[in-house]
Amino acid sequence: MSTSPDCDVIVWGLGGMGSAAAWRLAAAGARVIGLDQFGPAHDRGSSHGETRIIRKAYFEHPDYVPLLTRAYELWRGLEQGLASPLFHEVGLFLAGPPESVAIRGTVAAAQEHSLPLERLTAAAARTRFPGFQFDDGFEVVWERQAGYLEVERCVLAQLEQARNHGADLRFQTPLLAWHEDDWGVTVETRQGRLRSRSLVVCAGPWSRDLVPGLEVRRKPVFWFPAPEALTLRQGAGTFFFDLPEGQFYGFPSRNGGGCDPATFKLAEHTGGDLVDDLLGVDRSQHPADLEKIRGFLRRHIPGAGLEPTAHGVCLYTLTADHHFLVDRHPDFSRVVVGAGFSGHGFKFTPVIGQALADLALRGGTSLPIGFLAWQRPGRTIPDFR
Ligand SMILES: Cc1cc2nc3c(=O)[nH]c(=O)nc-3n(C[C@H](O)[C@H](O)[C@H](O)COP(=O)(O)OP(=O)(O)OC[C@H]3O[C@@H](n4cnc5c(N)ncnc54)[C@H](O)[C@@H]3O)c2cc1C
Repeated sequence: MSTSPDCDVIVWGLGGMGSAAAWRLAAAGARVIGLDQFGPAHDRGSSHGETRIIRKAYFEHPDYVPLLTRAYELWRGLEQGLASPLFHEVGLFLAGPPESVAIRGTVAAAQEHSLPLERLTAAAARTRFPGFQFDDGFEVVWERQAGYLEVERCVLAQLEQARNHGADLRFQTPLLAWHEDDWGVTVETRQGRLRSRSLVVCAGPWSRDLVPGLEVRRKPVFWFPAPEALTLRQGAGTFFFDLPEGQFYGFPSRNGGGCDPATFKLAEHTGGDLVDDLLGVDRSQHPADLEKIRGFLRRHIPGAGLEPTAHGVCLYTLTADHHFLVDRHPDFSRVVVGAGFSGHGFKFTPVIGQALADLALRGGTSLPIGFLAWQRPGRTIPDFR
């Protein structure tokens, strides 16, 4: 068999992570072929729905903060030359009981990394964030360096950078099968066979075929009529509530004015039905999902309309500990995996893309991703089941 490769690296999946990996690989001079089963910035996986929160004081674990510092730099670099920013630094408040995971974790990460964070009582927050209702005893923390990313535009910008650096990006091209041999990796598509030195897997929910223990959940997202206080023109930012009944987050209204009614996006971070058939996900609006989100609205955003103006469904791919998996595959030396981004990965895409590129091209990275390894202290991926 010929040993002449078609490229250095094949990127499997060109959503959030794959678009970034293709960009960082091509920018490093690698010959890249990227494959996706759907079109650019499609709405069948995990990287759609207008917006994603970005924040630095990371309650999930302080070890994410150095990665976020690099991600912030890469996002700012990526948006240079674009007509409008990708990253809107409008701030974020998190609210909940002081002992809640989000409040405790945000404060701890800010302290460990000397990040600016304001701490407010419920009474102070009521004045500061009109439009929201905070229970007595809540603590509210405000991170001004946080905000939101325009998710589809980010994916498209990463794809464009990849192309500008010479990557060959092929859409409507499912990867049907692959195998590794001593020489490299061979991938099958309907258009034929491709050979490369290595394979970077960024298949999102579809990664669960390769990574045991991943769980995919259906996540409904709603848009509701916004009170004036939740509009960008009133200085509203993003928000996250950690409540005993669940974690809820949302974005300021980005439209409104003129004839447009102002609407804002709201969703629950916790919960979600398990998904078996990834291509047959039920994308209809479920009454139970709507009732739960309305319960949150009535209590915490009383001026909002209760009839959704739009609804969507997105997929979370969760590891058991909800931390990402970014590593070489333990059984295939030429395969690198970025998976299990557990509903909080988008803000990291450029830096994870860089880490995946380093792993594929050099076998290692100087980025601090040890805590995201396939085998972590006291835990291996099979234990996630
Ligand atoms: C509702 C929702 C809200 C979220 N909110 C936030 C947030 O506020 N902040 C944040 O940081 N993160 C957030 N996230 C998480 C973040 O969006 C995801 O972690 C991230 O988008 C995952 O990207 P991915 O590349 O792993 O998956 P995807 O973007 O889904 O990409 C996987 C790609 O692989 C392709 N693929 C799979 N199999 C094949 C195949 N055989 N052949 C070819 N192509 C294939 C798919 O078509 C797809 O394009 C949220 C996620 C959801 C669903």
